[in-house]
Amino acid sequence: MKSRIVTPGIVVLLMQLTACAPPAGETASVTVDTLITGGLVYDGSGESPGLLDIGISEGRISFIGDAVAADISSPDVIDAKGLWVTPGFIDAHSHAELDEDYGKDALPYLYQGITTVVLGLDGDGTSDIGDRLASWEKNGIGVNGIAFVGHGFMRSAVIGREDRDATPDELEEMRGHVRKAMEEGAFGLSTGLFYVPGTYASTDEVIALAQEAAKFSNAIYDTHDRDLGAVYEGVGYDASVEEGIRITEESGLRGIFSHYNLQGAHNYGRADVGARLLNDARDRGVDIWAAQHPYTATQSNLRSYTIPDWASAGSREEMIARFDNPETAAEIIAATNAMLEIRGGADKILFADPRPDLNGKTLADVAAERELSPAETAQWILRDSNAVVMNLELYDHNNTRLLAKEPWMMTCTDGRTPRPDQPITHPRTFGAFPKKMRHFVFEEKLLAPEFVIRSFSGLAADFYRLPDRGYLREGYAADIVVLDPETYRDKATFGEPQQYATGIEQLFVNGQSAIRDGKSTGALAGVPIRRPR
Ligand SMILES: [Zn+2]
Repeated sequence: MKSRIVTPGIVVLLMQLTACAPPAGETASVTVDTLITGGLVYDGSGESPGLLDIGISEGRISFIGDAVAADISSPDVIDAKGLWVTPGFIDAHSHAELDEDYGKDALPYLYQGITTVVLGLDGDGTSDIGDRLASWEKNGIGVNGIAFVGHGFMRSAVIGREDRDATPDELEEMRGHVRKAMEEGAFGLSTGLFYVPGTYASTDEVIALAQEAAKFSNAIYDTHDRDLGAVYEGVGYDASVEEGIRITEESGLRGIFSHYNLQGAHNYGRADVGARLLNDARDRGVDIWAAQHPYTATQSNLRSYTIPDWASAGSREEMIARFDNPETAAEIIAATNAMLEIRGGADKILFADPRPDLNGKTLADVAAERELSPAETAQWILRDSNAVVMNLELYDHNNTRLLAKEPWMMTCTDGRTPRPDQPITHPRTFGAFPKKMRHFVFEEKLLAPEFVIRSFSGLAADFYRLPDRGYLREGYAADIVVLDPETYRDKATFGEPQQYATGIEQLFVNGQSAIRDGKSTGALAGVPIRRPR
């Protein structure tokens, strides 16, 4: 039976267990819907694991302990001997396309063990949170969904793509969007200050909106930095992180840095700076956290990577007019060349765009085919439309490794569900969680499994203040992973990204079996999660 209850069901469960209690003197025998026996249980707290049995009833964890001693039985027993049993994983920065028919099953995520995704990030989330959550409920979703309202969405709606400050009236209108979204269950405000139109906003504008969100309990500020280190004529990495900390501090929100890392070859080996900036802020009481994925490539769009902000302002026609004007075109070409140099060159820009003449090729490949320079090629592509691209080797694996050790570092995919006509996409959608486990636990033995599992689960549940998820505890929602440590691996590569991860033997979402014996059941067992009050 499908349970749509998202409030803690502890009371209900206790009543059910009591109802089964026999008269005094007889053995207390309890039947649960599903019993997972003999697995090595990592409960999400970061503590050492133990061999325990777990019972599921009515969508909730109804028992943890020794099932034989407690006389717990079930018509559905899963033998988890030799396997790890963990809480369902929480993707702290996701672009799972739950609103689309092709994405609502969330299979690339389920096959990694992910049972909850956080959406509406990078400033891109609608303020119609009530409608969004209701449509998830109505259409069904494969994972639980959390939604943020995006600053970029609101700025587009109120100001368009104009490169200027908001007027007092416009700021008030954006505040109205924040209030509506928060009242309807948004977890907080997200920004994408790197992107158009977020990049045109002042820090004060964002603080004003964050302060509006802060009027609601448990609100969060989620930031995609203005400059992760690879922005042409940007503020630079350190100043950009300081800005995110300042917004968090002055609004009084809890903050999270999306996909926290340092971009560009000039930032290789500077993870200590990234860690220190956050640790110093935390030491003085700022409630600031972060999430990471383990890939060295990013994915974004061609315009943001190759065209300076001033040239993107306003309408598409205005941008194209700047391409057509010989004077501005030359300035843009010079800027594009500088931007490509920061990003490692045109051969590091790999198209994940659905267009078949682009998909899987680098900007250097396409430029060679068209017998143009890479900068000219970028303009010709953008005249048609913006394009999805990756930037290979923008991150340093050693930076990622060092940041992974921090106790405030959650885990994310940052992965977008590919469209059906998009064969080449970023492999992180399919492999971020097992790849982090593979590198740092299985191969490098840098981190203990319980530490990484906590970064996948309990740590995020603490940050988002989810009252009944992220841990294996009696009464909690039965989001449960049973994985085989021998086979839990990412398979997705840049050449063949659309390969599901292996090793998730069983997966429960709200007590329903989403993966059974390694195969999807097709269940749409997720629920929308509203901000806890
Ligand atoms: Zn993102």
